[in-house]
Amino acid sequence: MIPKPLQNCGKCGLCLNVCPVYKILKQEQTSPRGKLQLIKAYDHNTLASSDLLKDIVSKCLMCGSCTASCPSGIDHYSEFMEMRKKMADVQGETLAIKSLIYLLGREYRLKFGSGLARTGQKFVPDKVAKTIKLGNIPLKNFPKLNSTPFRNANDEIILPYKKQIGTVLYFTGCATNYLYEDTGFAFIEILKHIGYKIIIPKDQTCCSIPLLFHGASDKALKNIITNINALTNNEADAIVVDCSTCGEALKNEYPRIMENQEQGSVEAIKIASKVIDSLSFIDQHFDLLEFDPNVTDKISVTYHAPCHTRNSFGSNTLAEKLLSKLAFVNYKQASDVNECCGGGGTFFYEYPEVSKKMVDKKIKNAKAVQASLWITDCPVCRMNLSGNLDLDDKLKVIHPLTLIHSALKQI
Ligand code: SF4
Ligand code: SF4
Repeated sequence: MIPKPLQNCGKCGLCLNVCPVYKILKQEQTSPRGKLQLIKAYDHNTLASSDLLKDIVSKCLMCGSCTASCPSGIDHYSEFMEMRKKMADVQGETLAIKSLIYLLGREYRLKFGSGLARTGQKFVPDKVAKTIKLGNIPLKNFPKLNSTPFRNANDEIILPYKKQIGTVLYFTGCATNYLYEDTGFAFIEILKHIGYKIIIPKDQTCCSIPLLFHGASDKALKNIITNINALTNNEADAIVVDCSTCGEALKNEYPRIMENQEQGSVEAIKIASKVIDSLSFIDQHFDLLEFDPNVTDKISVTYHAPCHTRNSFGSNTLAEKLLSKLAFVNYKQASDVNECCGGGGTFFYEYPEVSKKMVDKKIKNAKAVQASLWITDCPVCRMNLSGNLDLDDKLKVIHPLTLIHSALKQI
């Protein structure tokens, strides 16, 4: 469906009951429909800018569920992003968000910042880490940052274990590069196992989604151009991502944003056509995976479907389908597998009370099925879910790639 402007909203209300924020707050103004009306009023100069308006517009996980359910074809995502920019320009940002934008705007800053944070993690005493919270997540529950950025820990070109069947570019995103290297190492092993040559472009940087969500579109554009240059490679059959939010950026946002630029629009469309999320890629190559016959004990696994996997890649059942094919997995579906966890980029930090209600419900329902692993293919969901579990909780949160890699036959 071609996206329609917000004037097309027929106020049917179908977007209300899919909105995780509305489900918690039950306020019309923070619902997708309410936000659209406020944006319309602001654009028609019948509503002035204010901190309250900015707060209402920002109280959103940018999950895309409203867009996916709207019969009028409204592109809430773009409307909200544009309004966030206007609000940031007029009302400004908090110091924390300004700092995040500053870091994400240049890879060397991010590298330096993550090095500093890693050192800080070593020296903050447990007693102190227990008392500090970053949003709804206690500092002590934050994952340990990678000792070396993932892209520095790997060669730029990695050859497969067996006869090469193709070449992929791996867009690692910031999370795998600085936080969850286990996901990246597992993915590389799986791709080598299948028979792919892997290119990890060293010059890639933040996908820009956090910058776009906070209205920093000028800085986002610089990153987008850097990534387009890094990912333009005719040799690659596919561009693989292990984070559905990065995937959403490359697939949907880059062509839209580059449309009016003098250069780079053709390349952005080419890149978008090659982007595929890790689970879809594995599903397409499932027959080439050889599993270790000695892995016979069944692991009980439950799944959390990230909003961008459901709404941007339309693959809400793919992970479950994959899990059902794994002989060593006993899949236990949680009743709210498709509900948002409340992570939402920086939402867990900016609206901890709302986010906490969402994540606590997720945890309660995941525990009800008595699984030992909780898998999810979004690093922010992983951080939010695991960050709200006790460190010694029996339920562990991992990326599905780690689970699949753990059962592969050694080659
Ligand atoms: S679902 Fe679409 S048309 Fe219906 S209220 Fe929401 S935005 Fe408006
Ligand atoms: S993007 Fe998600 S959180 Fe934001 S208004 Fe739409 S459904 Fe609600």
